[in-house]
Amino acid sequence: MILLKDCFRVVRTHYGSGQFASTTGVASNTGGAGTSGAGTSGAASSADDDLSGVDILIDGKRIRKISKGIPAPEGCVVVDASRHEVMPGLVNTHHHFYQTLTRNIPAVQDAKLFKWLVYLYEIWKGVDEEAVYWSSKLALAELAKTGCTLTTDHHYLYPQGFKEDLPGLQFKAASEIGLRFAPTRGSMSRSRKDGGLPPDTVVQDEDTILAESEAALKKYHDKAPDAMRKLALAPCSPFSVSERSMKDAAALARRHGARLHTHLAETLDEDDFCVKMYGRRPLRVMQDCDFVGPDVWYAHGIHFNDEELKILAETGTGVAHCPSSNMRLGSGICRVREMLDLGVPVSLAVDGSASNDASDMLGEARQALLLQRVRYGAAGITAREVLGLATIGGARILGYDQAGLMEEGALADLALFDVMKMEYAGALSDPAAALLFSGYNHGVDHLVVNGEFVVRDRRLVGADEETIRVEANRCAKALLEKAGVKAEW
Ligand code: ZN
Repeated sequence: MILLKDCFRVVRTHYGSGQFASTTGVASNTGGAGTSGAGTSGAASSADDDLSGVDILIDGKRIRKISKGIPAPEGCVVVDASRHEVMPGLVNTHHHFYQTLTRNIPAVQDAKLFKWLVYLYEIWKGVDEEAVYWSSKLALAELAKTGCTLTTDHHYLYPQGFKEDLPGLQFKAASEIGLRFAPTRGSMSRSRKDGGLPPDTVVQDEDTILAESEAALKKYHDKAPDAMRKLALAPCSPFSVSERSMKDAAALARRHGARLHTHLAETLDEDDFCVKMYGRRPLRVMQDCDFVGPDVWYAHGIHFNDEELKILAETGTGVAHCPSSNMRLGSGICRVREMLDLGVPVSLAVDGSASNDASDMLGEARQALLLQRVRYGAAGITAREVLGLATIGGARILGYDQAGLMEEGALADLALFDVMKMEYAGALSDPAAALLFSGYNHGVDHLVVNGEFVVRDRRLVGADEETIRVEANRCAKALLEKAGVKAEW
């Protein structure tokens, strides 16, 4: 058991426009602190909804009680939270862990998506077992240290000669770091010889993809609401897989009660490619593959037209917003404001580290706040709305009804940020919003996942950070050298 004592503020995030209004099945009456009646639907929360000076008792994997003056049960670990903003852990809904080894490559620092992909594929085709393992550890560690308790990953690269069980390596890394992990089994079937962008050596044929996807679902997908492991299927994009692969994935995932994911509407080049290749716009291609619905979420979703936004709302199809990557590659600005108003489920994501080039989850929330305002003006999105889509919004998109919540009975996935640091001085009239408006060090003091410490006193509990740094740099260097790219460090 863990008792978080005298929390300076407890943030109860909501999802702005009620997209996730269905009841969670967990108690919403937190009693004793004037919190009853606070659901997860309705208007975005405000500073008035936050709780001051309460304790949070974590028992097993769940929040048992939120109240003032909870006596510490015997044997309980007591944490002084009087300097801390305590909030549901952030949820990352799109990433490519392996790209942490190819961040900030000078040759494509200024390239847009297709040119960037073509160059990097020549490096990525050398990804081996060690690269997958250490890049996963690195990405997961960075996510944990910046407030993320639940993440996905989208690994779609299956180089010839890769010997080990690839999802297995990632699940191993996630269980060592301690995060709740709901990755996707990605795939690519359209290489250069078929008019796609990836080299022939990193794609698989449709039958292999189908067989390996089914085996991975059987091995790793846990449908339980408190699962530490789930698996979704994620053909990479309309320009790197065949229509048959998309259709196969949709049918297979639904047979196993798993979710579906892909990149969509990221660039105007993709629109052109789809119109040329399929004679249809990207969303139409997805509709024809039965790749829409409440069990589907797309990464980016920048270039949907008005009609397509309505289709997303009507079908309940979600969008993972990746503001840093979209800015980095100059891809455009996702229409999040309009999506929220229409009722489209939206979540937040850092995207792969070759286009971010960090796995800074709290930093990403700040980017989302600011980027919507570039498009829609200062009232474009509120800090509370961003925190809502970064927590409960992401949890729902990854298939978790009981995460992303600050309620008794919810899963104990919590982030504790010290807001008594210099960088938040003068910003404490709304401490939750201060995390997005102010500050420059996005690290948590403590992170709890499934009732266990993952970060304690700013250090990872389950892994040595220096080892991760050294091993990741070694793997990155080997990967670049294999491709003939200069790597001197
Ligand atoms: Zn991506």
